[in-house]
Amino acid sequence: MRRSWAGAKVLIANRGEIAVRVIRTCREHGLKSVAVYSEADLHAPHVDLADESYLLGPAPAGESYLNIRRILEAARRSRATAVHPGYGFLSENPVFARAVRRAGLIFIGPTERSMRVLGDKVAARHLAASLGIPVVPGSHEPITRARDAASVARKVGYPVLIKAAGGGGGKGMRIVQSEAGLEGALTAARTEARLAFGDDRVFLEKYIQRPRHVEVQVLAEVGGKAVHLGERECSIQRRHQKVIEESPSTAVDANIRAQLTQAALKIVKRAGYSNAGTVEFILDEDRHFYFLEVNTRLQVEHPVTEMRVGLDIVWEQITLAHGQPLSVSQDGIHFRGHAIECRIYAEDPENEYFPSSGSIVSLSPPGGPGIREDRGVEEGGEISAYYDTMVSKIIAWGGSRTEAISRSIRALEDYEIFGVKTNIAQCLSILRHPKFRSGRYDTNFLEEQLPKLSPIPKHALLSAAAVCILLEQAQAGEQPGNNHEVKKSEWRTQSLDWMSDEAS
Ligand code: ADP
Repeated sequence: MRRSWAGAKVLIANRGEIAVRVIRTCREHGLKSVAVYSEADLHAPHVDLADESYLLGPAPAGESYLNIRRILEAARRSRATAVHPGYGFLSENPVFARAVRRAGLIFIGPTERSMRVLGDKVAARHLAASLGIPVVPGSHEPITRARDAASVARKVGYPVLIKAAGGGGGKGMRIVQSEAGLEGALTAARTEARLAFGDDRVFLEKYIQRPRHVEVQVLAEVGGKAVHLGERECSIQRRHQKVIEESPSTAVDANIRAQLTQAALKIVKRAGYSNAGTVEFILDEDRHFYFLEVNTRLQVEHPVTEMRVGLDIVWEQITLAHGQPLSVSQDGIHFRGHAIECRIYAEDPENEYFPSSGSIVSLSPPGGPGIREDRGVEEGGEISAYYDTMVSKIIAWGGSRTEAISRSIRALEDYEIFGVKTNIAQCLSILRHPKFRSGRYDTNFLEEQLPKLSPIPKHALLSAAAVCILLEQAQAGEQPGNNHEVKKSEWRTQSLDWMSDEAS
């Protein structure tokens, strides 16, 4: 049913940068926004930015951002008319989508039916295969017995990957090199999947060596018309989690691109899908592609696409959810230049990138031509141990890939965060690495290069050293004199030399 979005009031069932992102689009279009928050997020920017905000409960997600009853209560009290789920939390939960719709609200996402079909990796593999789209060789049904796992593994050949049917975020995945490790891995993966997703169904796929992760962004209106917004390459990953994404992909040519985008559109049309979605593929060394899964929500990396096509995907989501037609036809979508996103996480490079929670004492974000920063925390704010530790996303656009890389590097060099440790230096090292720059990298790149990538950028060390000098001077009652002054431009020059040594 086509409904007017004018006068809509959107509750954002999420936190952090994505809540801020959605609120901004609502404001641009004159829609009222409602934030929900946990006790840990009392001072978070999304709470301030929204027109109204409602406390859900204590910090643990089960008592706040995952609590359907409390979210619906906030929607009722605020008289919200629509709910945007963001990503993570309840965004791919059909029970939530149904509860929202049963409460008379618009769910800004697909129907529960298509969520159930596509959100389940085993069901989605069936659907893709039935359309003649290649899927990674493996089991067609969930596997519980080691005997069955062994027989599939023998057929497809080792190494194999055990994956959770209802999984996400790389959880519940196990690579198995030989039959000896199969039974233990199966038990461990099922336990991990049950704990993480409340669903212990796992299946088995051939482990593709040196793969590239390439995904297609689609938009679909109710009734089946769909367009694609091109592909994103997401092969820079740590533990199967994306760190840097770019568009276009350096792994695909026009021919493969056409095949991938057409396959993606076929899948969403067959599933009766509407709203924004992402169809993920994996490419092997010979550039054969295989369907992986569909994400039935907005992706973290959606800005990379927005920067290239000049569309606001969140606004498209809102209008599509109101039954409106797509704002553009496929012919009206034009791809310009190159975009790269770096996810900045609060994590400790010296402690195996363990989350580094705490307060952000000072924060100076980058800006300038071609740079977009999406962030959900401010100076003085907290990176909470309860949630994902992403501080922000730096997205750089350039007329060419080289320009997008140079702008990303310049932006990350300018980014200063004190109080928590971050992966900024690691992102810089990746962007400077000859293999990344050549575009010939795969999902193993980060794990293989990690030990060689520098944990702390020299300019950060020098900044910290300069702060210490100033503090010492202040304590000693000295004024910083010319003799002691360290110019920031000098730290940068030194850091650049040092970083390029390390990257070679
Ligand atoms: P999740 O939903 O947990 O993110 P995905 O199926 O999207 O799981 O896979 C996440 C990542 O795991 C992929 O981007 C890729 O790096 C790796 N992966 C998944 N399936 C395979 C496979 N069959 N072979 C090799 N790597 C894989």
